[in-house]
Amino acid sequence: MLSLKLKPYIKALLNCFYPKQCLLCKTKLMFDEDNALCQNCINTFKKIQEPYCGLCHFQLSEKKDVCFNCLEKKPCFQLNRSSTHFTHPVKNLIHDFKYRGKERLAHDFAQMLVQSYKNFPIFNQIEAILPVPLHTKTLKTRGYNQAKLLAQNFLTLLKNEKKELALIEDHVLIRAQLTPSQTLLSRQERFKNMENAFQVQDSIPILSKNILLIDDVTTTGATLNACAKILMEKGAKNVFALTVARD
Ligand SMILES: [Zn+2]
Ligand SMILES: [Zn+2]
Repeated sequence: MLSLKLKPYIKALLNCFYPKQCLLCKTKLMFDEDNALCQNCINTFKKIQEPYCGLCHFQLSEKKDVCFNCLEKKPCFQLNRSSTHFTHPVKNLIHDFKYRGKERLAHDFAQMLVQSYKNFPIFNQIEAILPVPLHTKTLKTRGYNQAKLLAQNFLTLLKNEKKELALIEDHVLIRAQLTPSQTLLSRQERFKNMENAFQVQDSIPILSKNILLIDDVTTTGATLNACAKILMEKGAKNVFALTVARD
């Protein structure tokens, strides 16, 4: 058996012969880097530029305060912000992250979330971080909750600057219903589909708190809306949302 002391040297040696590469452009990454992507590739991701909906961060074609959907039905969350558009290559990367076991992308995505968190001073009032939960069956099949990985990496990156930020534990908000996949549903069906999907099992950690929901993608906002709705009903002060990509 290898001595523990030798392990870092062997890892370094392996990295010389089998260097870690950026998942996209195959550039060599430093062996001690946690990233799965190089900075050049991350810089190419399309940011959401003004004009956008002030509530849900939807890209608008002309300057307005809020988009048509938010005007029609105000979301239960205060606002959503996303780090990038849900387009190529981010779309594929998120798919790899969720379904193909590329868990190490959590670090790159969390770096993007931290950047967005810092870009919007409204997030300074956040007291607790809550990853959108998965149903226990989905968790069992997938093996991990991608939103929780994002939240954990996000907090690790911010631990020196924001010591007061707490991670809300798994039992507090649960996904009680295993809803059919949202992919083929219309906007209205998605909202209907998500009604009653979540439950708050312990309201103490959320009482009078400003909470930040974290997830990988905002599509219609139906999932974030359902989480925010139940959290507000159970006593949260305000609920905000931050996701990697906006569809
Ligand atoms: Zn690259
Ligand atoms: Zn909107």
